[in-house]
Amino acid sequence: VAKRAFGAVPGLPEGAGFDSRSELAAAGVHRPLQAGIAGSATEGADSIVVSGGYEDDEDQGDVLIYTGHGGNDPATGKQVAEQTLTRQNLALAVSCDRGFPVRVVRGAGGDPGFSPAHGYRYDGQYYVESYWRARGKAGFDIMRFRLVKSPQPNPGTNPEPSPPPHGNEQREYATVQRLVRNTAVTQYVKVLHDYTCQVCGERLQTPAGPYAEGAHLRPVGRPHNGPDAPENVLCLCPNDHVRLDRGVITLDGSFNVIAGSTGNVLGPLRVASGHELDPTHAEYHRGLHGGTRSPT
Ligand SMILES: [Zn+2]
Repeated sequence: VAKRAFGAVPGLPEGAGFDSRSELAAAGVHRPLQAGIAGSATEGADSIVVSGGYEDDEDQGDVLIYTGHGGNDPATGKQVAEQTLTRQNLALAVSCDRGFPVRVVRGAGGDPGFSPAHGYRYDGQYYVESYWRARGKAGFDIMRFRLVKSPQPNPGTNPEPSPPPHGNEQREYATVQRLVRNTAVTQYVKVLHDYTCQVCGERLQTPAGPYAEGAHLRPVGRPHNGPDAPENVLCLCPNDHVRLDRGVITLDGSFNVIAGSTGNVLGPLRVASGHELDPTHAEYHRGLHGGTRSPT
């Protein structure tokens, strides 16, 4: 079995057209002939096809809100069962955590504003910025993935070369890990908390001073459109920021930190005078990863 090939296909320009799924597979762009997601839970996902098969997909061009695999009636495109974070969906989550590039192919059945008139088109490399659970249009749970186009036209190939690289060997590819937004608002919240994590109480010291991150409860940007405002921002250490973004932890209605998977209370969120959070943003976050679901 050939090693899963991430990133650019050598010699393949963005915008290249294909008549069929078998042509896409033969060119090494997207190997499965039917599945929309190429990947495995151990390796990550290396490519997807967007072709209008899922009613909850939202195509915005450089940003794609992609519906996970499963529970879909191929004849109608409608959801008929719940999706879970398993198999190909887990593969996309692995690519999110490791920052792997995902080749995006659009098919003629997709959003007319961004899709080819016929056949399939290779649209370059995207990164999985985040993922969450939502109630789909048909009333079943779906997994949603926010993919953002790579800022580099060709970030390279093969994120995990084998054998592993030696000390000074240049890696010929790029991955994108985490985007930490620093704004005047997140800076303001960090100062209010004196850079102390609101979950674990750690105040991380670096040679340049204390370090913390501003974490938005309701994510900014589509489709969440959370505000960049103090009532939507927590001051967290990097570990707890990742836990929050991945739904390992969330907040209950009394601003206790709870486990996203079980809802068990882990402890109270630390507070600072002058910093009040909006409970509706905590509820929205909880809907993405825990009990009460958000409308989107
Ligand atoms: Zn912490």
